[in-house]
Parts: sequence; structure tokens; C-alpha cells
Amino acid sequence: MKRRQFVGGLAAAATLSACAKNDPDCEADDAARQETFQWSCVTSWPPKFPGLGMGPENLATRVEAASAGRLKIKVYGAGELVPAFEVFDAVSRGTVQMGHDASYYHKGKVDAAQFFTTIPFGLTNLELNGWLYYGGGLELWRELYAPFNLVPFPTGNSGVQMGGWFNKEINTAEDLKGLKMRIPGLAGEVLRRAGATPVTLPGSEIFTALQTGTIDATEWVGPYNDAAFGLQKAARYYYYPGWHEPGSGLETIINKDAWESLPADLQAIVSTSCQAVTADMAAEYAHGNALSLKRLQEDPNIELRPFPAEVLDLLQSTMQDVVAELMAADPASAKIGKAYFDYLELAAENSRITEQAYLNMRGQRR
Ligand code: CA
Repeated sequence: MKRRQFVGGLAAAATLSACAKNDPDCEADDAARQETFQWSCVTSWPPKFPGLGMGPENLATRVEAASAGRLKIKVYGAGELVPAFEVFDAVSRGTVQMGHDASYYHKGKVDAAQFFTTIPFGLTNLELNGWLYYGGGLELWRELYAPFNLVPFPTGNSGVQMGGWFNKEINTAEDLKGLKMRIPGLAGEVLRRAGATPVTLPGSEIFTALQTGTIDATEWVGPYNDAAFGLQKAARYYYYPGWHEPGSGLETIINKDAWESLPADLQAIVSTSCQAVTADMAAEYAHGNALSLKRLQEDPNIELRPFPAEVLDLLQSTMQDVVAELMAADPASAKIGKAYFDYLELAAENSRITEQAYLNMRGQRR
């Protein structure tokens, strides 16, 4: 009897301290904690595709578990609700509450968004996250998307990608001339100026285009994702490194009205889960790429090759022209580009004597 009174007393005390004197704010808080939300998330990826497509799936699982089911998110693959490259518009309009894709797909609509995915010869995964989370990058990103009624969250990163699959050898810069290659973003424009024909295709269309000869070459991601599409069955030469995507950050975009409809604790669960997925995806890629690369290297039909220095020199100098023109033509790109390249300058020196020095040292000793 005494124990029951004591427990009852504790519960009453807790109620009192949480909700003193019928505080109307407090009653509103309780009501918010009972409200449940059902969201749809459209993506640019094949359903549950390794890495890229598992990002939003993992996000949905984490958010539902952490919120005890108060926020449920149903994830749709590319084409299930909207096509791969219409995620931005669908979330902006409020057709769905959430999307997961890569911001460089918005080239031509919001050119400056490209800085938040990746820039050829630019920041690595780790450096990009330094800029976004601590160096002011995310604030610039939110400002850029505000007119579209969107709130962006970094959610996943592919790490350094591979240069791609080629059915033609690339021995000199001349070999780029006439090359038809699937490659998105600024890198596509770089290749165009080098004499190639860049093509933009969603992932699901790459294999057939390469196998039928509609394109001569493609980049996609890296061994883990490329092998999942079977690209090794459609081309012989596998070039590295991915000069064009040194660490592509992915985004969750949330319709601003939907975001503001969430109570503060659910907002915290969403943003924390996005950050958790970024860490998780890096681990998934580190593991998946290592295993897939080993298998690809055992395949006698595949030649793994580094790009010649002459080709990389041309691509880098062309890249500098392309970025300078983008920044001259678009005020948002000028502002965000300056912040990006200032950060690259800052981060590169630290990386040179840490990650880079260590990896070079280890590589020479194996
Ligand atoms: Ca890529």
C-alpha cells in the first residue's frame, strides 16, 4: 500500500513538474507528442539500391524507431511516384514531404546546388562534411533552397568515386575527342570542352546504354555500385581515380511546411538520423567497395587503369575555366563557390600532412 502511494506520488510529481498549473504550452507539448505523421520520400535511386538507395531506407528505419512510430516514412524508388530527376520539384511543390537525391542533378535549375554534392578536383567526403557541419556550408545551402520551400540535410556520401568504365582506351587527351560518356554535372561540361559528348542518364539506364554502344563510357559510383549494375559485363577498361567526384554528398530535402509541422523533438530525430546515415553510408561504401574491387580484379576481362597524367592535367585546367564562368554568370554560385574554394584551400593543407601523407606512406610500404 505504501509502495503504491509512493509510486503514485512520484507519477504525480512528474506530472506536476512537467505540466505545472495547467500550463497551456505544456498541454500543447503533450498534444504534439501524441500526433503521428506519415510521410512519403521519393528518391533518384533504384529501390533499395546498395549505398545510395539504402540511405533513405536506413533514414526511415531510424526515424520510425527513434520516434516510437510517431513519424513513419515510406520510401519510393525512382519512377515509383516521380521520375529520378523530378525529386526536387515534387518536394518543392509539396506533392510529397521528403526526397533523397544528389544536389548536382539540379544543374540548370539551381546551378549553385552543385557545390553541395561535389566539385571535380575538390573536397573529399571528410572535408565536405567539415565545411557543411562546421564551416558554414550548410547555412549557405539552406539559404539557397529557401526560395524553393525546401530544407536540405546532408545524408550520405559515396566517398572517392571511380573514373568509370570505358570501351575505348584513354592514353592521351586526344582519346577524349568523340567519346560519348554518361557523366553528370560540371564534369560533363569539362568533358564537352575536351571534345567528348557528355550524356546525363539516371542509373537504371546506364547498363543498356553502355552494352548497346549508345555510349562509349560511363561513370557511376565505384566498385560496390558499379558491380551491382553489372557494368563490368559491358566495358573492359576501368579507370581511376574519380577526378570528377572526390566525395559526392547526397541530400535529404524536406518540404518546408512539412518540416515546420513537426514538433521540435521529431525535428531533432530527423536531423540526427540524417547525420547518422552519413556516417553509416561511409562505412557501407568502405566495406562494399573493398569486397567488390577484389572480385573485379580477379576477372580476367577487366583492366584496371589510372588516367594518364596528361589527361588529368587537361581536365583540371578545363575545370578551372568552367567553374570561373559559372561563378561569373550566377551570383549564388559566386558566393557559394568562393566559400567552397576558401574551405578547400584551408582543408587541403591539413589533409596533405595527415590523410594524404599517411596513405602515401602506407602505400609505399605494402
Ligand atoms: Ca558518379
